[in-house]
Amino acid sequence: MSDCLFCKIVAGDIPAKIVYKDEHLVAFQDINAQAPMHVLIVPRRHVASLNDLAESDDALVGEMVRRAAAIAKEHGHSERGYRTVFNCNADAGQSVFHIHLHVLGGRLLAWPPG
Ligand code: 5GP
Ligand code: ZN
Repeated sequence: MSDCLFCKIVAGDIPAKIVYKDEHLVAFQDINAQAPMHVLIVPRRHVASLNDLAESDDALVGEMVRRAAAIAKEHGHSERGYRTVFNCNADAGQSVFHIHLHVLGGRLLAWPPG
């Protein structure tokens, strides 16, 4: 999608600190990190929100979640723990409408979230 920030990052048109990429996914550091590790994992293909996922996207979402675990492990957070978050729409504070999985770790993360 031409006016989508994360599509532009996927295309390399806007710079980001990329931590992983493959055929389906790109992962990069959040520009406004909320924890020592704060990575966003996005599909290369534009999907606006969780509400727009289809059954045919199940494998893609599985790849995103398993990549989150791999990135947390690379950062040394597997044992202490980390958090994965998909925000969906206004009440959850979604601000970029290209699905992204937040991966946060490196500090104690309170629950419930704000
Ligand atoms: P949301 O609020 O939609 O769940 O998360 C969007 C995230 O994207 C926020 O954590 C925000 O800091 C991050 N973000 C917004 N603009 C940029 C950008 O230009 N580059 C990067 N790397 N992250 C961004
Ligand atoms: Zn997009």
